[in-house]
Amino acid sequence: MQLLDGLKVSNDIKDEIKAQVDAMRQKGEKVPHLAAIIVGNDGASLTYVASKVKACERIGFESTLIRMSANTSEVELLAKIKELNENDDIDGFIVQLPLPKQIDEQKVLMHIDPSKDVDGFHPENFGKMALDMTTFIPATPFGILELLERYEVDTAGKHTVVIGRSHIVGRPMSILMGRKGFPGNSTVTLTHSHTKNLSQITTQADIIITALGVPNFLKAEMCKDDVVVIDVGITRVQDDSHPKGYVIKGDVDFDNVSQKASWITPVPGGVGPMTIAMLLKNTLLARDRRRNNK
Ligand code: NAD
Repeated sequence: MQLLDGLKVSNDIKDEIKAQVDAMRQKGEKVPHLAAIIVGNDGASLTYVASKVKACERIGFESTLIRMSANTSEVELLAKIKELNENDDIDGFIVQLPLPKQIDEQKVLMHIDPSKDVDGFHPENFGKMALDMTTFIPATPFGILELLERYEVDTAGKHTVVIGRSHIVGRPMSILMGRKGFPGNSTVTLTHSHTKNLSQITTQADIIITALGVPNFLKAEMCKDDVVVIDVGITRVQDDSHPKGYVIKGDVDFDNVSQKASWITPVPGGVGPMTIAMLLKNTLLARDRRRNNK
């Protein structure tokens, strides 16, 4: 078994981006500026946003964190988005999900200027991704592609099984693994909560990507020998012996599956840090594209 070490690769990517940012500063050029809006006080969301802002600081990006109260109205949030769309200093921004119930998530995503949509969630960017056009690939799938590429994991002609069909991970991942190119050229099966006989499908898989959010869901008996396993799941499981009161669990029974796998991502230290690195990469791309269009 070999680890797909997302922590190491994400640090490499951040170093590469930092070198580019340092060069921009030396030439007196504008450096990338990422803004993040967070609505409410969800603990996990606050942690994710804080790590995104911290990553910006580490590599020399400018960052702006906009905190809005849990009872923010949809109109107020849309007004803030309009402000960011029109602010020429900001290259890209994200709206941290999930949003409070009174706000229509789809409507919010539709209001983000696609050229600043560094999460790649706007339908225009999602459509471009599906058509192999230049776009922003959602950060988590983008990070998985980058991991597969840097470790030269062969994907062509392989059977890839994706578990979970969310708009932000499973669905785009299934499209990207089936696209022409590397990583890609896989034969893809997209599975979900209505899939029957899942084990029969996963035991046929050369590559399994789990994005469902059920700790230890993928067991060794659901995998064939030498399988490549990518674990996207992040679930906080209560653990009073831990100072934080919880531990982070992936979707994969790592101890047992890793004994069968050829390659596997750990949790933590796999897909999570890659997601942040690719958000930074998308912000750099947004900055470059905006400059080139001027
Ligand atoms: P989601 O929570 O929106 O949806 C879960 C999906 O899993 C659904 O499509 C559902 O059909 C499927 N599913 C649920 N139970 C199933 C079962 N028993 N068998 C087969 N399919 C089943 O999905 P999401 O937003 O992609 O999140 C999935 C997990 O990935 C969560 O743990 C989330 O925290 C994590 N996540 C991690 C990152 C990262 O950076 N590592 C990024 C996004 C999401």
